[in-house]
Amino acid sequence: MSHHKVIIIGTGPAGYTAAIYASRANLAPLVFEGAQPGGQLTITTEVENFPGFREGILGPSLMDEMRAQAERFGTEIRSETVLRADVAATPKRVATDKGEYTCDALIIATGASAKWMGIGKDEALSRTGGGVSACATCDGFFFRGKEIAVVGGGDTAVEEATFLTKFASKVTLIHRRDQLRASKAMQERAFANPKLQVRWNAVVEDIATRTQTLATGETVEKISALHLKDTVTGALDELAVEGLFVAIGHQPNTHLFAGQLPMDAAGYLQVVPGTTRTPVAGVFACGDVQDHQYRQAITAAGSGCMAAIDAERWLGEQG
Ligand code: FAD
Repeated sequence: MSHHKVIIIGTGPAGYTAAIYASRANLAPLVFEGAQPGGQLTITTEVENFPGFREGILGPSLMDEMRAQAERFGTEIRSETVLRADVAATPKRVATDKGEYTCDALIIATGASAKWMGIGKDEALSRTGGGVSACATCDGFFFRGKEIAVVGGGDTAVEEATFLTKFASKVTLIHRRDQLRASKAMQERAFANPKLQVRWNAVVEDIATRTQTLATGETVEKISALHLKDTVTGALDELAVEGLFVAIGHQPNTHLFAGQLPMDAAGYLQVVPGTTRTPVAGVFACGDVQDHQYRQAITAAGSGCMAAIDAERWLGEQG
């Protein structure tokens, strides 16, 4: 069992940024990358809103750059998934699929995953630039002048549908029931929006696609329509769209810490506001795992920086 000053769990923008700062502070962090090396941005194509890349950058390339930057300062990254963590022990204990480790400070950057509809095609098309997304802030700009749909009925779905009317020519909000869960004020704003229509009592049964040939000669499958089923009558019909946003929630990757660290009702880790400190001394959380508000690469990276600085200061105080 090897001992480390700092262990970081996760290699999304939060984990890599924490690693860059911690390694430059001579803390020699050990990082576990888990099942998704590079995190969520490795399953997307163009990222246009990460500062420093005026022409945009492919998600996987951005993450390769972050990884190389962390390694340049001596970060050790292991292809291991953390299976158990005992955060109350001194030193803290971490067990992966390949070994056991101890550390003084633990930085949790395990991210969150978008919930998909469970029909397979939605998640697959989101990975290949096929016109399906779970993030309006990230991808709304790509749908200027297009007819699109949003699936969901909560605050996030209604807010995203309203936001997307800034770009799309028409937004259809598809909801499985005959009333929304979103707050009244948000609903009123949505109903007053001439570009937004609600399709009540409907679920997406399937996604139709067409093959598009890119300038490079490559072909890509693009969404062309949704096959909808009426949840009351069972009737089937088709809605032609060029984009689909799935807004049925996110799942923070926090199961490892159940019963050990406080979480909100949706399972996000709770930190002392304005810091990355959890209530357990020496345990810090950064990125989407503690942020249900913004969930952006830049905010994840920013809080990864905070976590490394918080950990460095805490280690300094321990003498
Ligand atoms: P994540 O990126 O989720 O990374 C989590 C890491 O933790 C992964 O490496 C995973 O393997 C690891 N992990 C989890 N559990 C374990 C475990 N038990 N043991 C070891 N490791 C573990 N944001 C933007 O700013 N711009 C965009 O254009 C944009 N586009 C997006 C497109 C898509 C399709 C998606 C899904 C998201 C997009 N986002 C975008 C959001 C952005 O990707 C996230 O906000 C960001 O990746 C969060 O970073 P993170 O470091 O907190 O976690």
